[in-house]
Formats: sequence, C-alpha cells, structure tokens
Amino acid sequence: MFPTVLGRDTMESDSEHPARGEPFWSNQCGSHPLSVAARARNRADLDLIDACLPDPEVDVNHHAARLSIRTGLGRGQCLALCDIGLLLQQLPALRQVIERTLSFSLPHLRAISTGVAGLNPEQLHAAEPHLVALLTPTRPNQAVIGVRRLSRLIGDLVAEYDDRARNDGTERAPKSEGVSLADAGDGAHSFVTAVLERDRATELLAAIAGIRNLEISRGNECTQAEALMKLVRGSSTAEIVINVYRDASGGPAWIDGAGWLSEVATEEWIRRATHIRISSDSTVEGYRPSESQAARVRGRDGTCRFPGCDVPAHKCDLDHIQPYNHDHPELGGPTDTQNLHCLCRRHHNLKTHEGWNIDRHPDGTEVWTSRDGDSATSVPTGPLKNVGKQTFSKRATRKIKTIRQRHMDWLLSFCEPVVKHFELTEADEKRIESLTDEELDAEIDRYLEGMEGKDLLDGD
Ligand SMILES: [Zn+2]
Repeated sequence: MFPTVLGRDTMESDSEHPARGEPFWSNQCGSHPLSVAARARNRADLDLIDACLPDPEVDVNHHAARLSIRTGLGRGQCLALCDIGLLLQQLPALRQVIERTLSFSLPHLRAISTGVAGLNPEQLHAAEPHLVALLTPTRPNQAVIGVRRLSRLIGDLVAEYDDRARNDGTERAPKSEGVSLADAGDGAHSFVTAVLERDRATELLAAIAGIRNLEISRGNECTQAEALMKLVRGSSTAEIVINVYRDASGGPAWIDGAGWLSEVATEEWIRRATHIRISSDSTVEGYRPSESQAARVRGRDGTCRFPGCDVPAHKCDLDHIQPYNHDHPELGGPTDTQNLHCLCRRHHNLKTHEGWNIDRHPDGTEVWTSRDGDSATSVPTGPLKNVGKQTFSKRATRKIKTIRQRHMDWLLSFCEPVVKHFELTEADEKRIESLTDEELDAEIDRYLEGMEGKDLLDGD
C-alpha cells in the first residue's frame, strides 16, 4: 500500500507543480524530500479516512469497534476519522482543495470537522466556499496555515451562520462564562478557573500584564499572580490600553488576541472607547516605536510574522526588519511602520541568532529564507492588513496633500474603505503603475469628483 501512495504523490507533485508566480503552499514543493514525505502522509491519512467512511445506516458503536480493531486506534480517533470522512463527502469542493494540495495534516482536518459540527447542512453548504478560501494560498510558497489559527478562523466563520450567537442582539452568552475554585491538592494552592468570552479574557490578561509592567518599570518585582491580586484589590494605578480596530464604515471590531468580535461585544467595546485613532504609516526618530506605530503594526500583522506561527500580535515583540543602527541611525533600519513587524520571542531569537533572511514586499508579504535555503512566505492577517497595500493609495497619499486633504486622508488611512472604494484588481494595479504622475493626478481628481456629495465625514 505505502509504495503506491508514494508513487501517486510523486506523480501528482510533478504534474501539479505550481507554475512560476502561482500561489502555492510551502509544502507543495514537489521536489523537497521533506515536503514529499509530509504530503505522502497527508495522502495516506485521506486514504484511511476514506476506508473508515461508515454506511449512513450502520450502528455507530458497531462500526467504531470494528475500526478500532482493524486500525489499532482508539474509539475517539476512529470516530474523528468518520466525522472527517462524512464532512468531506458532503463538501466536494472542500475535499477537492484538500486532495489537490495535500497540504493539510490530520489535525487540520480535525479542526475543520469539529469547527463546523454545529452548522446545519444548509449553513454548511453556504460556508463551503469560505472554508475553501481558508485553505487556498494567495502567495507563492505561502506557509501552511496553523491549526490554531485555522480553528479560530473557522470559529469566526461559524459564528456568522449561527443565529443564536449572531442575532440575539441583547445578551452575551453568560451561561458559558464562569469562575470556579478547586483545590490544587498540594495543601497550599488552589486553582482559580475563569471561563470568559475571548475579548474579556484578553482584557483580563492585558490588565495583569499592564500592572506587572508598571511595577517592573518602577524597579519592583511583580509576578503575574501579584499583579492579579493588585487588580482585585484595586491597588494599582496602571493604565491599560486595549486597541480595538474597526472599519470606519462599521461592521465587527477586532481585538488583538481575541480576534473578530460578535455584534454585541463590538457595541460594548465601541461604547467604552476613550480615544479614536486613525491609523497610518509613520516614521519616528530613535529606536522605540511610538504607541500608535505599535497599534498599527500589531493591527496589520495580527500574529507573529514567522511563516506559520500563530502567536497573537499582542504577545509579540516589535522587531526592526532591517536592524536599527544605534551608532548611525541615519544609515538605515528606520523606526518606520514599514520596517517593523511582530515576532514572538522564539522567532525573534531565531532571526537574531540563526541568520534567517527576510525579504519584505510592499504588500506586506515576507519571504523568510534560512541559511540552508529553506524558504516560505508569510502574509499579514490583522484587520489593517490591506491598509497601504496598494501602490495607488501610497502614491495618492503623497500627492493628495495638495488636493483635498481631509477627505482623502480619511479615506486612505482607514482600513477597509481603501479596498472597498478603489476595488483595485491586479490589472488595475498594473495599469496604475504605468501611469505618469500627471495621469495619476487626473485620475485622483476624477475619483474625488465622483465622491462629491457622499457624506464621507459624517459627524467630523
Ligand atoms: Zn513566532
């Protein structure tokens, strides 16, 4: 069986090796022995899933027992394989992308099948194209999406179809939250377990971290537990900043670490907001990024930028991609949002000590290459990922100061409207690249005339 599987995989790799410039996942490289082995394993898992597929009328216990004996796997694992098989049977387009790329491991497939388990068949079919999109690369050599991130994105997707979560409109779901106390069994400690909605949990952790950082900055030692107790006793003066990102035109908000929020949570956070910041690229003097730069970079990157790493941005360091030159700052490595990115501690060290090279492209794509020549591409995933992406918007920002500053600044610096209003396709981008400055000015003028009368600055 195994040699056949390998043989089939090699053939597929050869016939389907992505054309130059075409998007593909980093493990779709047909010739690298590691990628070949990983994809052969994924192929073999799919074969096992197919072989385990139950007849719809068969008794669950009987089928699971049979599979368990024949495969040597536990009942839970066997049923998980059945669930995946039944799901792929219902969603042929999803199956096709999984089979064609062979990029996804069993944990990925399990994340999908558990993630969508709450959807009814109608919702499932409506969600299928979105699931396919999640598993479709957008860049050449793109790092395969991590299981944790995939789970979270599927969670967000499912929330859109689940009426109870989406449309109740008045209440969060208090029944799912709670705080409990349990004996740790060592005679000295207790476990305090708090189950909170993601945004509230993020807020709690941000408060603990904020108090701790303040104490440390004052030269005091402070553990997380001590910071938590200061929070409980109200004995800290730390100010906690939580950045909430939202499109100027409305829609759900996004919080670093919690992801996209439900309608109710969004309203709650917007009501609580004390400052509104319009995000744009910037450069500052010196080594330390400003607070607004940090907010922008975190909102743009969403996670650590090492390919495939899904440590959320708020837990990451801000790293100068081209290192800051402490002796001669004018020689490069500027503290510019385009030269900053999020790296978790592990990958920050990797970059510093293991000599990985990073090529950053103007659209925010980063290509990481190791000393051994292994490379993969990562894309930004935060809510601001499209801001400043287009050549058009960048050139326009530069010029627009002489035209109609307020309108255009607003338009260009917020997140989604740039994409929505310009709706730039790749062909557009190419065309705009080819324009002379005069032609571009004329185009911007025509665009602004078209916007006349539309009240973009409502309330401003
Ligand atoms: Zn990382």
